[in-house]
Amino acid sequence: MRDLKIPAERHPEKANRPDSEQPRKPSWIRVKAPTSEGYRKTREIMRENRLVTVCEEAGCPNVGECWSQGHATMMIMGEICTRGCTFCNVATGRPDALDVFEPGRVAHAVQKLGLKHVVITSVDRDDLEDGGADHFAQTIRAVRHRSPETTIEILTPDFLKCAPSVLEKVVEARPDVFNHNLETVPGLYHEVRPGARYFHSLRLLQRVKELDPTMFTKSGIMVGLGEERPQVLQVMDDMRSADIDFLTIGQYLQPTPKHHRVADFVTPDQFKAYEKAAWGKGFLMVSATPLTRSSYHAGDDFARLRAARLEKLGRA
Ligand code: SF4
Repeated sequence: MRDLKIPAERHPEKANRPDSEQPRKPSWIRVKAPTSEGYRKTREIMRENRLVTVCEEAGCPNVGECWSQGHATMMIMGEICTRGCTFCNVATGRPDALDVFEPGRVAHAVQKLGLKHVVITSVDRDDLEDGGADHFAQTIRAVRHRSPETTIEILTPDFLKCAPSVLEKVVEARPDVFNHNLETVPGLYHEVRPGARYFHSLRLLQRVKELDPTMFTKSGIMVGLGEERPQVLQVMDDMRSADIDFLTIGQYLQPTPKHHRVADFVTPDQFKAYEKAAWGKGFLMVSATPLTRSSYHAGDDFARLRAARLEKLGRA
């Protein structure tokens, strides 16, 4: 393990989090509290297998809908992240050692939920030499072994502090979709994603395509953090130049008053305009709504993504 200069407390006050008055949450953001039987069953399977989910850690507004259908996004490598992104509700600190049995538990949960498509994400692990690339690969293999029909989508960290070759380990495990979120426009990185580098993240996705041109790549941003429309359009152009297939855009929601403030609530019509612009730029798949998250409706969207590629190939 690398020696990390990270404070030991689990919820340190993060920098750059202006705690000023928030705009009122509009009606299109409100969702019902989760109550369904399916929700309870999903929660039980997560608990039984001692799995952490980004759905809960991030306080996702879609948890009632997704979990009622068994769609939980599992977060591997612990619940403590080595980064301090100001939008993110996951605790920052020194993580525990990797749990070698976790890939097996993820695979067991996927089988028990009977998922056709699973999304697996993780915290950032800058303390590990390979950033957790091998653990990702093992998790993909374990799921594939137990549920060969299930398609696998991964949402990875940026592996910024690792040798470029670690990416190969993950790509070689052959997830169906490789997602890495750019999160915001480059002009806001210093206050929203201070430990990351915009062009590194973009290049990571471009390298995935170079390593395996058949692998679907996906990336997303949040809006409402203070970005301008031309900046969002520029991110779309950057993503297309890195050959990214699938774009997601969703509204940023402030998890607690200590996090980055919501600059504005982007209206559904503005989301539609972003969606239209993105289709025009040539993405194979676009999801842009206030409640869009990387993993929201990921299974249905994956089916559309696959169909869009087949159609494109048919036209070529
Ligand atoms: S959108 Fe993603 S993170 Fe949110 S509840 Fe659904 S699966 Fe979980």
